[in-house]
Amino acid sequence: MVDSRCQKWDIAIIGGGIIGSAIAYFLARTGKAGQVVVIEPDPTYSKASTPLANGGIRRLFSLPDNIVMAQYGLDFYSRFATKMAIEGEEQPISFCRQGYLFLSDSGNHSVMEKNYEIQCANGVDAKLLDSSALKKLFPSINTDDIAIAVYSPNDGWVDPHSALFGFKRKARSLGVTYLDERVMDWESRNGLVRKIFTGDGQSVEADTYVISSGAWSGEVGQMIGLHLPIQPMARENYFFKTNTLIEPLPLLKSESNLAFRPEGQGYTGGIPDWSVQYGWRSDISVDYFQRVVWPALAHRIPVFENLKLNGSFIGHYDTNSFDKNAIIGSWTGSGAEVCGNVYIAAGFSGHGIMHAPAAGLALSELILDGDYKTMDLSPFGYDRIISGRPYREIGII
Ligand SMILES: Cc1cc2nc3c(=O)[nH]c(=O)nc-3n(C[C@H](O)[C@H](O)[C@H](O)COP(=O)(O)OP(=O)(O)OC[C@H]3O[C@@H](n4cnc5c(N)ncnc54)[C@H](O)[C@@H]3O)c2cc1C
Repeated sequence: MVDSRCQKWDIAIIGGGIIGSAIAYFLARTGKAGQVVVIEPDPTYSKASTPLANGGIRRLFSLPDNIVMAQYGLDFYSRFATKMAIEGEEQPISFCRQGYLFLSDSGNHSVMEKNYEIQCANGVDAKLLDSSALKKLFPSINTDDIAIAVYSPNDGWVDPHSALFGFKRKARSLGVTYLDERVMDWESRNGLVRKIFTGDGQSVEADTYVISSGAWSGEVGQMIGLHLPIQPMARENYFFKTNTLIEPLPLLKSESNLAFRPEGQGYTGGIPDWSVQYGWRSDISVDYFQRVVWPALAHRIPVFENLKLNGSFIGHYDTNSFDKNAIIGSWTGSGAEVCGNVYIAAGFSGHGIMHAPAAGLALSELILDGDYKTMDLSPFGYDRIISGRPYREIGII
């Protein structure tokens, strides 16, 4: 077996979740990226955001750039199984085009209407519904306190774990190497990172480095003096069932933060508790479901009064605390510590599954061609962090 440390790599990707693996795939498929290595300490992805996500893909954003990225993701995922087939064997990801539904239940309908206009202007086939039109489409929903709704019937969801492994297997089939190691330190000189040190005391040398370490990106960046305002934010998620048969629902999200979608014979989702401090958590709160989530579910879908809770787990958002949007592009700035061969794709803040294909494609173009070709993601660049200019989503995030 070849010792993978005996060579210099062209590109080293730090973190092999869905973002790192999508970048690896898009680089490798060009055939001109050279030797690509992904450094990923946990092949089981036990704490990574990706496998614990809901996998929703929606174009209901206020920023046209987020819409463009989601549109690319939607198209890509709808053809993923065949497009990513390996030697004729398809890679299914349970792509489900069952729609997205945003509900205005907390007085912000003017923002939702404004966003709807932006969405339509950017090619989204969404519908603006008043409460009686909503009731006709989805009779199980309590519409009494809903001012308006925006329904995007062609959005949907995927199984994020399958999508991650689809990217990873395909990248490997195209020659990408995965090293089961953790990056612990970096060495830089004259404005370039020269090598990184891994947990086993070895080093990895590459011409170009990409930080795609999800919620860990803040601490990975800190190792070389790169400030990334990215932190883990715990979010409890639940799986529940009801015996009462209702119409197929889309992924539903409300201004009051309720978010859930059908999953198999039941439903998965919850209500993020935005008051929770950043940091890693492993303990499910004793009564949050009973006290907060269940009453909200039963209020919105009255048959959920008799639901059965089948499971709960905690996933962590890869939150960019600066403006809750991804940071994508090269490490820019004027300080002596700035290294021109470091790129960032992190802090997707709850949108990383739907935005992974677009981020992977765009970053591969930036690295290999020196510029964005298919879509211009420069508004997500690191400059905005240095200059203190947030690029924010308005409305439901
Ligand atoms: C409950 C929940 C629901 C969500 N729902 C959705 C949704 O519906 N739609 C959507 O688009 N997004 C959703 N998200 C967000 C989405 O999951 C993330 O944005 C996305 O998974 C981020 O991918 P990533 O590859 O950047 O991070 P991760 O999947 O966390 O991968 C990062 C990897 O970096 C590795 N790493 C860490 N430290 C190091 C180191 N020192 N050296 C090398 N590697 C390292 C880790 O082991 C990890 O595997 C949700 C997230 C949660 C928690």
